[in-house]
Amino acid sequence: MSKAPSPGAGPAAAGTEELTDRFSREFGGRPDGVWQAPGRVNLIGEHTDYNEGFVLPFAIDRTARVAVAARPDSTVRLLSTYGDQGVVTASVESLQPGTAKGWTKYPLGVMWALRERGIDVPGVDLLLDSNVPLGAGLSSSHAIECAVISALNDLTGAGLEAEDMVLATQRAENDFVGAPTGIMDQSASLRGSKGHAVFLDCRNQEASLVPFETEPAGLVLLVIDTKVSHSHADGGYASRRASCELGAEVLGVKALRDVEVGDLEEASGLLDEVTFRRVRHVVTENDRVLQTVELLGSQGPSAIGRLLDASHASMRDDFEISCPELDLAVDTARASGAIGARMTGGGFGGAAIALTPVDAAQKVRDTVAKAFSDAGFAAPDIFAVSPAAGAMRIA
Ligand code: ADP
Ligand code: MG
Repeated sequence: MSKAPSPGAGPAAAGTEELTDRFSREFGGRPDGVWQAPGRVNLIGEHTDYNEGFVLPFAIDRTARVAVAARPDSTVRLLSTYGDQGVVTASVESLQPGTAKGWTKYPLGVMWALRERGIDVPGVDLLLDSNVPLGAGLSSSHAIECAVISALNDLTGAGLEAEDMVLATQRAENDFVGAPTGIMDQSASLRGSKGHAVFLDCRNQEASLVPFETEPAGLVLLVIDTKVSHSHADGGYASRRASCELGAEVLGVKALRDVEVGDLEEASGLLDEVTFRRVRHVVTENDRVLQTVELLGSQGPSAIGRLLDASHASMRDDFEISCPELDLAVDTARASGAIGARMTGGGFGGAAIALTPVDAAQKVRDTVAKAFSDAGFAAPDIFAVSPAAGAMRIA
């Protein structure tokens, strides 16, 4: 089950000058500025967001960059350096959910969402260049949206705070793109900071930065993109959500966030076996996020390996959203030197992460690649990411 050509190491990341020159060649004139926003990796906290729980993503050193110039009219011209859609033209005044095609639904969705908030978004010329791998679970789509909203926030003088931009990009994804996503990805992309993870409470959107520096600890965080598409994701996601809602209803709580690990024994007598396991994943995963935050503060990343491992086991056995490729990536990384590993993202494919001592990284890469080949799986993409800055203007 391999999917659409993934750029793996990512589409080309042009320098700012190169991007500006390309903009001038394509659209004429200079852009008003260049903005960038990163992709993200979720360190821990999976399927906890819609249960009003905790997540701990971090912004990565892979970014989408947009060179943008405001226009005097309502015309929008969009071009990406990746793919072959060419220049796409639209009118900012006649944007309608469900009408945009391909990647342009992300920037157009952001424009639409801002206009829905009463912000007078002008027509723009926009050139995108991103080195966030597509569809690898690193949120290449939110990187685009966050770069675009940062640009439009500056260009319109709207003065939106991060929480407003988080909600506007969620509106764009939910109501314009049509993807039922939460607030994690854009929160990481907009609020991320070098050397930190973003601890996010999905009940009230409160966010705080937690120190997460791999390099001083002699560690590297490897992403292993299995290239397996999330082909069962839609049905699987809906049924997991339904189980969580059922669990909360039977247990008499607003959301599973309100169930503690100590309540699980009693819950096991009230729920059917499958629903109980789904609930147990969410409840223990929330607890693992809190433990991870505490350990990162007190001991640093070397201490969190067992929590990553436990998170993976919970998703594999209780939430049942792993797949053979993800399990092989995690088990092999662990056996060849990683101090902790887990699948990351919604499941049924996508990527795993492996927190690895720097001097074991090559062995982990080689061993995982060989294990995939021996198993007859498509070759995975394996690359290092580090906790990096959030969205910003760079020119
Ligand atoms: P993810 O966000 O996990 O990477 P999505 O399916 O949500 O996966 O988003 C991937 C989509 O984002 C692609 O199908 C494409 O439309 C768009 N995209 C991402 N990066 C680029 C790019 N550099 N150029 C054009 N489109 C892109
Ligand atoms: Mg996405």
